[in-house]
Amino acid sequence: MDAVNKVEIITKTSSSQLVKPNLSDYRRTKREFSWDQMQSELSGLPEGRGLNIAHEAVDRHAFGKNEHRIAIKWLGRTGKTRDYTYKQLKTKTNQFANILETLEVKPVERVFTLTGRIPELYIAALGSWKHKNIFCPLFSTFSPEPILQRMSKGNAKVLLTTSNLYQRKISRIKNQLPQLKHILLTDATDHLGKGLWSLQKLMKEASDEYDIPPTHPEDHAILHFTSGTTGKPKGALHVHSAILNLYMTGKYVLDFHPGDIYWCTANPGWVAGTSYGIIAPLSHGITSIIDEAGFDAQRWYHILESNKVNVWYTTPTAIRSLMRVKSTPKETFDLSHLRLVHSVGEPLNPEAIRWGQSHFGLPIHDNWWQTETGGIMIANFPSTKIKPGSMGLPAPGIEAAIFQKDDHHKPMKINTPGTYGELAIKAAWPSMFRGYIHDEARYRKCFSDNWYMTGDLAMQDEEGYFWFLGRGDEIIKTSGHLVGPFEVESALMEHPVVAEAAVIGKPDPMTGQLVKAFVALKQDKEPSEALRLEILGFGRKKLGTVIAPKEIAFLDDLPKTKSGKIMRRLLKARELGLPEGDISTLEF
Ligand code: AMP
Repeated sequence: MDAVNKVEIITKTSSSQLVKPNLSDYRRTKREFSWDQMQSELSGLPEGRGLNIAHEAVDRHAFGKNEHRIAIKWLGRTGKTRDYTYKQLKTKTNQFANILETLEVKPVERVFTLTGRIPELYIAALGSWKHKNIFCPLFSTFSPEPILQRMSKGNAKVLLTTSNLYQRKISRIKNQLPQLKHILLTDATDHLGKGLWSLQKLMKEASDEYDIPPTHPEDHAILHFTSGTTGKPKGALHVHSAILNLYMTGKYVLDFHPGDIYWCTANPGWVAGTSYGIIAPLSHGITSIIDEAGFDAQRWYHILESNKVNVWYTTPTAIRSLMRVKSTPKETFDLSHLRLVHSVGEPLNPEAIRWGQSHFGLPIHDNWWQTETGGIMIANFPSTKIKPGSMGLPAPGIEAAIFQKDDHHKPMKINTPGTYGELAIKAAWPSMFRGYIHDEARYRKCFSDNWYMTGDLAMQDEEGYFWFLGRGDEIIKTSGHLVGPFEVESALMEHPVVAEAAVIGKPDPMTGQLVKAFVALKQDKEPSEALRLEILGFGRKKLGTVIAPKEIAFLDDLPKTKSGKIMRRLLKARELGLPEGDISTLEF
């Protein structure tokens, strides 16, 4: 990969930064950073009773200057809206915590949710943290089997869902979940039997006074199942001290300022939707937009405009979907309030960053992290220059490095810039996962000495920027060269009719593996043999004959997880006629 030799750089001018970034001097902030300082910017529970996510995200803002500020602005699918001020959110989440108390749910027992992005989901998350329960959100689009697997593996005691989802998905698996004692139906007006409760009725009866019990920063708070791009989803556990990372990255990466309106498009079923769709913005006392509906380019531009969104956090898939549709957002909509656009979940193709510049007048800031890291680890900051294709620099308080295995298969830190190896993060940071449920051995295997090995291959350049090559198991070895799918996909995306590309290695007697690309075309473009040959030629010109795809197939859409990640492993299995493996996270 020769990305570093021909780097293009996007330097932000002071006129593009009307608000002074919280992090204006990266090196200095990193050098002087301390977690104690972050802790001192939070409140902690009264009387030194510990650190609780819900207190930092809600209660501490529910009086004084933020009391009447809108914490959550919910936009319903059909046009309904609901606003919750910090004070109202405190009341609602107190009521939810009291419901758990009344139902005799014990701390650390697990509260699952299976709903779309409705206010009750957010109230349940925060109320569960108040009551010291472990919150586990599931995608409502899961079919019954993956729901059953996760709820039984995660020992679900309580489930919050809707009557419709209950009928369609839960009623038939309920008897296989003996530990599930309470189902709270968000829209039922009356209780429907033992353990099948009307949330509305319980909320009405619940007291709105609640004192959060002493909470140790290491108390478990969140259970997240990984996206399953490379294998079976694993259940990663996080603790209350994760708030420190989420507050820190809210401050330095997302660059929240008082009064900001922020929109994170992720669903809490994916870690990004919890860490940055619930916790980080509320920990800063700003207003968070929650849109119930899915992707729709016109609706999204309208949301940005009508809510005067300042900071927007989305995914490469969403940006590529916007790029697929012909639009002129800057000219058609008033996006003058939009200050920052951030992206996570997959590598962000340079083409997408350029598109952001031309269509929003803003570069898109890529950042990297995983379910296991709990929060952003590597990022492009508002004040640092962007090298399109690079995921940026380690966040304050985070040490990242590249490792390669020595002759005894022990990972060794590599200090030579430009060398590819496994990306590792120095343990332990506050939002680091504290275990995989029921798999202690696998958890321990993730660490070497004091480093967490991420499973991603990357490289660090001489200026400290990290460049993503691919997930370890998605790297292609062709004619002795290591090829990351991202490099090839990004090059193909520069072709004017290519909307998305996914690249796999296909066994080949001559080259070991040949590079095969699956391509989805932009709106109104039809696949043809001539176009296939044209894109093959374009790839050869961009990448050279060794790395360029030898085969191209057209698909209407690429298979993706519910969190929007391309499932290359599935494309490969289909191509080779192999079993598809766990496809529970596949988005239909
Ligand atoms: P998950 O834990 O399911 O969100 O998946 C985490 C994985 O997504 C990482 O290990 C990377 O492989 C990929 N990923 C997330 N963000 C980025 C990024 N900015 N650039 C490249 N890969 C990313």
